[in-house]
Amino acid sequence: MSRGDVSLLRPLKAAETVARTIVAEIQAKGLAPGDGLPSEAVMLEQYGVSRESLREGLRLLEVQGMITIRRGPGGGPIVGAVDAAHLGRVSTLFYNMAGATYGELFEAWVWAEAELADRAASNPDAELRVRRMEPFLSAPDHDVDGLGPYVEEHAGFHHALAELAGNRVLALSLETYGQIVTHHVAVVDDPRNLRDVLTHDHRNIAAAVAEGRRRRARSLMEAHLGGVVDYCRSRLSASLDSPIEWL
Ligand SMILES: [Zn+2]
Repeated sequence: MSRGDVSLLRPLKAAETVARTIVAEIQAKGLAPGDGLPSEAVMLEQYGVSRESLREGLRLLEVQGMITIRRGPGGGPIVGAVDAAHLGRVSTLFYNMAGATYGELFEAWVWAEAELADRAASNPDAELRVRRMEPFLSAPDHDVDGLGPYVEEHAGFHHALAELAGNRVLALSLETYGQIVTHHVAVVDDPRNLRDVLTHDHRNIAAAVAEGRRRRARSLMEAHLGGVVDYCRSRLSASLDSPIEWL
């Protein structure tokens, strides 16, 4: 791009400023996921920017999953969740451009979850460890119907460990690998085939974490994901050496 093209960047700058202002307001007002943001008309007046800049700013946040935009009458922007799924999705573009492979993703995933399990078991608040692991210590008393709820229930256990690890930077970044893997496997196959094995593994890991046995939690997690990785390997349509797809 030549210097003469710099003017093309002006609308983007305004859009970025709008995006940052919207984020600052979400934080200042303490808005939660699912809360609505002001209508386009209100925001246009409030921010004094062009409709184009406002829409681009909202789109920037939408791409990163920080808001969702309901189209059509009665629609509008809604606050999204700060979760590893969105961060993972954004990361896949970088992994793809770097030529990173599924083999590397699996390796990172096992390492990350073992680290989180170790840290969760090392959480000094024993009462909290027991409370967070309690739902996973017994077999579920209900059948989860449908793929979506099942994937969510499974991810719930790994998310509980990430939270117990007690570091939001680590929790958010290390949880992304599992989110990406889950997405790919959910697309190519039905992971409910794995269900009994996973529930059994989770129960043992949950007990080790509740008891504060960090080495055991780590090695059980390594074994648990080793099994899942073998399963994914056999079912992933792409080769382990192929670059991670941009989700
Ligand atoms: Zn698991």
